[in-house]
Amino acid sequence: MRLQRPRFGEPRRLILSFVLILLLPALAVVWLGVQLIRQDKALEGRQLRQLSESTADRVIAGIEQTISATERRLSGPGAGAGIRIGDDAVLVTVRDSGIEPYPPQHLLYFPDPAIMPAPAASAYEAGEALEYGAHDFTAAANAFRVLAASSRAPIRAGALLRLARNLRKLDRHDDALRVYVDLERLHDTDVLGLPADLVSRRARCALLADLSRGDELRICATALLNDLRAARWRIDRGTFDEYVRQGERWLGASFAIPVERRALAEATAWVWQQRADGVLPLSGRRALRLDDVDVTILWQTAGERVVVLLAGRQFAEREWFSALPPEPAAHSVAVALTDDGGRPLVGRVPLQSASVVRRKPSETGLPWVVVAGEGESTASRAEFASRRRLLLAGLSLLFVLVVAGGYSITRAMSRELAVARLQTDFVSAVSHEFRTPLTSLQQFTALLNDAEEPPLAKRRAFYQAQERAVERLRRLVESLLDFGRMEAGAHPYRLEPLDPCALVSSVVEDFAREVHTEGFTVECTVPAGGSTVNADRDALARALWNLLDNAVKYSGTSRRIFVEVATKATGVAIAVRDEGIGIPRHEQTEIFDKFVRGAASRAHGIKGTGIGLAMVRHIVQGHGGSAHVQSAPGEGSTFTILLPRVEGQ
Ligand code: ADP
Repeated sequence: MRLQRPRFGEPRRLILSFVLILLLPALAVVWLGVQLIRQDKALEGRQLRQLSESTADRVIAGIEQTISATERRLSGPGAGAGIRIGDDAVLVTVRDSGIEPYPPQHLLYFPDPAIMPAPAASAYEAGEALEYGAHDFTAAANAFRVLAASSRAPIRAGALLRLARNLRKLDRHDDALRVYVDLERLHDTDVLGLPADLVSRRARCALLADLSRGDELRICATALLNDLRAARWRIDRGTFDEYVRQGERWLGASFAIPVERRALAEATAWVWQQRADGVLPLSGRRALRLDDVDVTILWQTAGERVVVLLAGRQFAEREWFSALPPEPAAHSVAVALTDDGGRPLVGRVPLQSASVVRRKPSETGLPWVVVAGEGESTASRAEFASRRRLLLAGLSLLFVLVVAGGYSITRAMSRELAVARLQTDFVSAVSHEFRTPLTSLQQFTALLNDAEEPPLAKRRAFYQAQERAVERLRRLVESLLDFGRMEAGAHPYRLEPLDPCALVSSVVEDFAREVHTEGFTVECTVPAGGSTVNADRDALARALWNLLDNAVKYSGTSRRIFVEVATKATGVAIAVRDEGIGIPRHEQTEIFDKFVRGAASRAHGIKGTGIGLAMVRHIVQGHGGSAHVQSAPGEGSTFTILLPRVEGQ
């Protein structure tokens, strides 16, 4: 067993229930925190959603305004007049008879190449009979040369083409090239269903390729491709692609045709087809993605013609999307326009969260899906986050306070319970202390009162024994009174300069006389040169007496006690040494506390109250000194009182 600490039974249960009661508010704090944070998050979500909705509404209204302004221009008397076409849009007027683009160079190819009636092949019959029948190319050339002077351009164009062919067969290449130049001057005149200058340019390039005239071929092919890119001819997609491929072969390199222009031509084909199928409403808006290029189509019908605006991304951004929030977001909400598949056309796509608002074309009347929601770092989210952090910090603080408060209260409670237990022990110990001298007093009084009076020598011995018992009682009462005063804090020591050696010698002498009968010897060593300390004579004597008393009580089988006074630089040391049972290390500090008794004192059945050393410490500290112990179980103990020396000594 260790020190006489309280053994908890009831108290332990008390503390346990207190801890449990404490746990409840702590858990409530945690639960409250979780609820608050959850509510806060829900509120944040609602606010963000409201913000997203209002932003989406604002954007939709803004775009609707700009887009309907464009539509009004389409249906107006000028049919698209006043619309700033820019680089990536085209205005197309569609009639049954065909398509009219503005500006013409923005439509690379047509879904409806207006096929012009080819001139009757019979005009060339005579010449072709000479060419293919008689193989007389000179005569054939002459025949075609006559026709080439015809007043009718289509006849002239066909004749020039055939003339050049015969000249090539006659190996008159330069003459043939010159004829192609003549043919080119007929521009749009139809030959073989195509514009004359396109056919002649192709034939000329082919001849140059045959002749391996590389430099001229490159110039010829580049010019052809440039004109194709500038949409110089009204041709269909097949012809366009075929001529581009051919030109690239002659050039030996690929030639860039802007994808945006291609997309415009494809979108025109879509409109044409829809109209041909009879499914094109009278007016409408449509967003198409063609070869990864976004084209927006607006159309209005006026009479038998449909006016169509086909616009690329730049046009849309410039004319319609200025209502979108600027980037980077000064607003907390990101807005994007996407196609049906969710691919963004413009704007910042919002983060995927519950706050995202998606407005379909069927709801808005716009050709795109409008998506609005939380951007990458929304101001309100940051605000919410910091509020939550604050909340968390507050709750954590509260939690820590509850736990720390509970811990310290539990500690204080257990300490108080321990003291209460020690006090109970103290009362029973004091009662035991009183019992011994009282019993011997009673016995000797009974012997003296005996009818047969004992002889004088015996009587004297009885009286002496009675005196010792009374003295012991007196000391006990006095020490209890002293302890009471000490506890009440009302024990001012009357310090006076005195010689510690003389005091120690006198106390030791008295003590030795008392314990002499029990066989104890006290060896006292004091230094020769006297020294002085400021001390209360009675108090210091009591402290020394207590140490000597303990040395006897805990002496075990040994009967020797040593007292030594030593003068040191720091002060005067009074040491009391015994060869008794000793004190384990872990008890050596606590034994100086009041009511604390060592485990061995109980085990050996040694009587005591647990206040002796507490008084020693109190007295010594009251003198500005200190008390120490050095001990090992079974080897004895040395208690040392250190008192400061009087200044100047
Ligand atoms: P008490 O002696 O009445 O129990 P004290 O305050 O005088 O109370 O001593 C406290 C405890 O210190 C004792 O119970 C004992 O265990 C231990 N003690 C004190 N002096 C000695 C000593 N000389 N040798 C061994 N143990 C001692």
